[in-house]
Amino acid sequence: MTTTDPTSLASPAGRAGAPLVCRSREELRSARSELGGDVAVVMTMGALHEGHAMLIRRAREKARHVIVSIFLNPLQFGPKEDLSRYPRTFDTDMQICTAEGVDVVFAPTPDVVYPDGDPGVRISAGPLGNVLEGQSRPGHFDGMLTVVAKLMHLTGGTSFYYGQKDAQQLLLIRRMVRDIDFPAAVVSVPTVREDDGLALSSRNMYLTESDREVALCLSRALTAGAAVAAEGPSSIRRAARAVLVREPLALVDYLVLVHPNTLHDVPEWYRGEALLAVAARVGTTRLIDNTPVAVGPGGGALAVFSDVPHA
Ligand code: AMP
Repeated sequence: MTTTDPTSLASPAGRAGAPLVCRSREELRSARSELGGDVAVVMTMGALHEGHAMLIRRAREKARHVIVSIFLNPLQFGPKEDLSRYPRTFDTDMQICTAEGVDVVFAPTPDVVYPDGDPGVRISAGPLGNVLEGQSRPGHFDGMLTVVAKLMHLTGGTSFYYGQKDAQQLLLIRRMVRDIDFPAAVVSVPTVREDDGLALSSRNMYLTESDREVALCLSRALTAGAAVAAEGPSSIRRAARAVLVREPLALVDYLVLVHPNTLHDVPEWYRGEALLAVAARVGTTRLIDNTPVAVGPGGGALAVFSDVPHA
């Protein structure tokens, strides 16, 4: 364990100085026992940015202590995906965690998380895991839920913070917690964007300057769709698609307006909360983005990402 000042672990205002870095289960167990009851956890794959920092901040506001996990989970990457080139920026990640007052960083290697190799028993995402992202990335959500379940157990956290940027992931984690009764509170945090609308993502590091310009069409499409939300589903889809077709260098995988609980396309008569979501390849990088929309006249408050689990 890399220690600095273990006595500051119990500080109610968050840790002063660098977080304690735990690499093994034993180190985490011992650090966890020092923290006491109220521990919020932010799970990440590293390459931290302001979006992750916002999750940590929200967690710090509510909980006495914060654990951040940094783990590039091989189980959720397909054979043709970007695991080997995924950005690894541990030193910068530590600077961010230090600045945000994180108590403990759990940064294990795969053999620590999967000591017996690939787990034979996994969490199944079920039908919600086969659509949208799951269609392009078979097995992704089973791998994601399996590591989320393990990290919930290993960290012993009481609340867990996830970004709305990964809306399908958030929905599936909520479902897992409900469907198999995890004693965990799941809290969602709105997507953090650049000033020009681009959703922050570790994968933005892959974008060239010109890719980045192209990538703006995702958030612009969502904004265009949301702007005509009062007119109904076909207007929303049409307005969003019109932005995307003007950018032929963005290879659109899907643009959907779906029910936030079922991820089914909403019919034309639908009024209420929906999720407008897009995925596209820009250069060599697959990007996703989404926004909640209030379909139909009146709009109103949206609970798409409500922290009260959907029935
Ligand atoms: P990742 O490291 O990409 O697995 O993301 C770790 C957590 O950060 C997930 O809960 C993501 O949804 C969240 N996250 C990623 N990007 C953003 C963003 N731009 N705004 C808010 N949360 C984000």
